[in-house]
Amino acid sequence: MCDCIFCKIAQHEIPVEPVYEDDQVIAFDDMNPQAPVHTLVVPKVHVQDITGNLEPETLVSLHKAICEVGIRKGLTQGLRVISNAGADAGQTVMHLHFHVLGGTSLGEGLLPEV
Ligand code: AMP
Ligand code: ZN
Repeated sequence: MCDCIFCKIAQHEIPVEPVYEDDQVIAFDDMNPQAPVHTLVVPKVHVQDITGNLEPETLVSLHKAICEVGIRKGLTQGLRVISNAGADAGQTVMHLHFHVLGGTSLGEGLLPEV
């Protein structure tokens, strides 16, 4: 049994309202939003992070899903995509995901003040 929360969401064992879904990918809103729009784009296959092995068709679906989230959320003024990988990046859910953020000016800095 997989005990991964994003696998359970991808397999509809935990219900979410999808922003976008196809056979490879599901996108849903982050439960702790960091911006007016904060949606997670998640492959249905369990891969730990962006350094893991992904089929080309999954990469294509992830890209399409990110673009679809931008359209469906009305992010005509821009969006930011972040994927944390590993401890230094602060990854907390060990299943690859892309944060799609927008709906306000996010500024030019890539990181908060450190
Ligand atoms: P990261 O720190 O990059 O691993 O991001 C994990 C993100 O997943 C955080 O922003 C959490 O708020 C979010 N998250 C964790 N569990 C859920 C869930 N069940 N539904 C929606 N978002 C979640
Ligand atoms: Zn998983």
